[in-house]
Amino acid sequence: MTTMESLIGLVNRIQMACTALGDYGGEDQTFSSLWDALPSVAVVGGQSSGKSSVLESIVGRDFLPRGSGIVTRRPLVLQLHKMDEGQQEYAEFAHLPDRQFTDFSLVRKEIQDETDRVTGKTKQISPVPIHLSIYSPNVVNLTLIDLPGLTKVAIEGQPESIAQDIETMVRSFVDKPNCIILAISPANQDIATSDAIKLSREVDPMGERTFGVLTKLDLMDKGTNALDVLEGKSYRLQHPWVGIVNRSQADINRNVDMILARQKEREYFATSPDYGHLASKMGSEYLAKLLSKHLESVIRARIPSITSLINKSIEELESELDHLGRPVAIDAGAQLYTILELCRAFDRIFKQHLDGGRPGGDRIYGVFDNQLPAALRKLPLDRHLSMQNVRKVVSEADGYQPHLIAPEQGYRRLIEGALNYFRGPSEATVDAVHFVLKDLVRKSMEECQEMKRFPTLQSTIAGAANEALERFREDSKKTVVRLVDMEASYLTVEFFRRLPQEVEKGGNPAAATTDRYSEGHFRRIGSNVSSYVNMVLETLKNSVPKAVVYCQVKEAKQSLLNHFYTQIGKREGRQLSDLLDEDPSLMERRLQCAKRLELYKKSRDEIDSVSWV
Ligand code: GDP
Ligand code: MG
Repeated sequence: MTTMESLIGLVNRIQMACTALGDYGGEDQTFSSLWDALPSVAVVGGQSSGKSSVLESIVGRDFLPRGSGIVTRRPLVLQLHKMDEGQQEYAEFAHLPDRQFTDFSLVRKEIQDETDRVTGKTKQISPVPIHLSIYSPNVVNLTLIDLPGLTKVAIEGQPESIAQDIETMVRSFVDKPNCIILAISPANQDIATSDAIKLSREVDPMGERTFGVLTKLDLMDKGTNALDVLEGKSYRLQHPWVGIVNRSQADINRNVDMILARQKEREYFATSPDYGHLASKMGSEYLAKLLSKHLESVIRARIPSITSLINKSIEELESELDHLGRPVAIDAGAQLYTILELCRAFDRIFKQHLDGGRPGGDRIYGVFDNQLPAALRKLPLDRHLSMQNVRKVVSEADGYQPHLIAPEQGYRRLIEGALNYFRGPSEATVDAVHFVLKDLVRKSMEECQEMKRFPTLQSTIAGAANEALERFREDSKKTVVRLVDMEASYLTVEFFRRLPQEVEKGGNPAAATTDRYSEGHFRRIGSNVSSYVNMVLETLKNSVPKAVVYCQVKEAKQSLLNHFYTQIGKREGRQLSDLLDEDPSLMERRLQCAKRLELYKKSRDEIDSVSWV
């Protein structure tokens, strides 16, 4: 095989692989640009002008449905792959990847059936292509597209728009600048009426990518010939016109095979009085070579852009694969390692939220600085220490014997009552911090990209983290309640020792005793209790945050997943792989990416190895 042959073969393989990945490639820009960058050959012409026959002669095989009327009703993308001499030729459909056809009459039948599958057994058309590959020693590497013939009127069973629909479909192929147009015109019609030439002139006005093909030379009226057309005098194109003699319908009916048909065609030109001098540049074999050679030069010119597209594709795919993560290991040790790595990644993000670097940790300070003091301020201490309540509590505490010097029991009860109020805000502080921590766990999980592909692990770790936070919350609650209880269980003696002196300092000691059960007396008790309680309040304002940070925040930072770690260490291989159960759509995507990556890399290597020889 020559270098260029293998290069065209390579382009074919890329196109074919792109086709196989079609579903996935649809959404991918590079894929479609790559497809567009690769040249292909499409046959264009009026109905029954001989398009399918020309393709068959190029291939040298009978395999296309042919005949009068609208036979080709879906585009057929035909890829020819040259094999080494002596190998068994076969055909393969993209929609039947596991089946190799060696009987070409079955290929024809499958094309018909596959056409009917989409269009029904009507005379309708569909733009959805059928992809067929032929592997043979007798072909040149080429991609050919057979298209429905252009028509003028709708026949029975066809929608009125059929002529327009077909033209639109044909245009969608030949509009692309990389499409080489095989414009088929029958010689027994005036070239001026050729649909093929009319359309190709519109999309390729300079005739740079149009190959004029004249069929049915054998059917011309006696006494006329097509020399004016074949010599480019009637209609000028950049490439030479090629005359063809395909099998007639009678030949087909008599099963004249392709080898014989080619031979007859050769003889026709060699012995023709009109075309004998052109014989070496006529016929389907010559056309195939001409096309292949042209394709070579086109591909040569495109190699740099194809290479850069492939490189771009490779880059994109690699970065996507990085993003998706590499496939998971199978042995338990590696799986455990992966799980621990993911836990660490999550934990790192969580810590950043607490320590700064990521937002959220400041909300905890907000609880201490605003929420707690505000809650403490709102406590109904004024009501509790109102004159009436003080009198009530003190009297009740005295019982039948009113107090003599100072209402010891009354003080205690008033203080205990007041301190009891502190439990609520302290516990609420614990809860508020708990919710902040829980929210940070959720956020960190969301931000942990590596974890995304493992939904099961994600929810397991989130569950473990939340359980841990729950335990920290309980512990923290016990601790702050204990702080409050401690304050209530032993009162600061010194504070009270200072009290009588303060009372006596400014006033008259005698007045203090006469006054014993007056309003002023109870008010003084209230204000003493109030200043003691405020002193405790200031203490708690500082010690509750310390307890909360110690029990919850610090614990979360240091040992959020410790419990999970000890559990995971005990797990068996099976349970580990269950945890690493991936999102199936993600796995599929990775598989597709990897496949395409492999394809593109192979293509790049092949291009590198052949193109500059
Ligand atoms: P398509 O509709 O353009 O694909 O045309 P087909 O390839 O199906 O051919 C239509 C009919 O014309 C068939 O019966 C062919 O046998 C016949 N035909 C095509 N080319 C030639 C030719 O060069 N000579 C003769 N005698 N018949 C031809
Ligand atoms: Mg046809």
